[in-house]
Amino acid sequence: MKSTQSRSEADHYPIVFLGAGPGDPELITLKGRRLLDQADVVVYAGSLVNAALLNGIKATCHDSASLDLEGIMELLAQGYARGQRVVRLHTGDPAIYGAIREQMQWLDSRRIAYEVVPGVSSAFASAAALKVELTVPEVTQTVIFTRQAGRTPVPERESLRNLARTQATMCIFLSVSMIATVVADLLEGGYPPATPIAVVEKASWPDQQIVRGTLADIAETLGNSRIRKTAMIVVGPALAQESTIASKLYDAAFSHEYR
Ligand code: SAH
Repeated sequence: MKSTQSRSEADHYPIVFLGAGPGDPELITLKGRRLLDQADVVVYAGSLVNAALLNGIKATCHDSASLDLEGIMELLAQGYARGQRVVRLHTGDPAIYGAIREQMQWLDSRRIAYEVVPGVSSAFASAAALKVELTVPEVTQTVIFTRQAGRTPVPERESLRNLARTQATMCIFLSVSMIATVVADLLEGGYPPATPIAVVEKASWPDQQIVRGTLADIAETLGNSRIRKTAMIVVGPALAQESTIASKLYDAAFSHEYR
């Protein structure tokens, strides 16, 4: 590991892409907490990461909100070159809409080492807030993480209209401001108007808000709420409260080896 004598590759700490979790500072992994506490430099996505995670740590912290890719990468690379412990802190899990790919490619091209430490995605914090199981036996066994096309295009084959054919559970990120289009596409794709849908804003934060409804009424209900951004749309028949089908997992007749 690190030595003060020489400056070979082995003397540098890998840069860590770290999942901060959805907001509640207790929803970071133990490993993530340790890495934050040990860090010398933290570059965090200020709009969504809870700054409470950074309270009292010794690192110099930079909000990446006003930085472009080059600006972010320079900060990370400078810390790395100095032999400092550098953390790039992303909201939720870094693998979901985290834009880590371009950052990792930037580091690859310069032979700078890095690691990725997962986090609790807001999709799971939203499911927890709603107290739902996303995979209900004989209803759906599939969860789709997706988004409505916006400034970032979505390939047509995976448009919400096409995905809706599966009737699976969907967690729709980055799309609450386009709820009317989301609903229209889901209906056109084949979800019945009575399909349950919920919107969770700031899941796991103290000011978390939930709006529930069906595809028929959610756009209006949401319009009347104060929810505007940082929200997850969860939709599909798995959300129906009346479903009484039980998982076979704890059925007395089911083999115990899968429990
Ligand atoms: N990597 C993140 C997602 C980043 S994209 C993750 O795994 O959660 C940003 C989008 O994530 C937001 O537009 C919103 O749809 C969702 N999001 C992030 N934090 C959220 C939260 N606390 N509650 C609800 N949705 C959230």
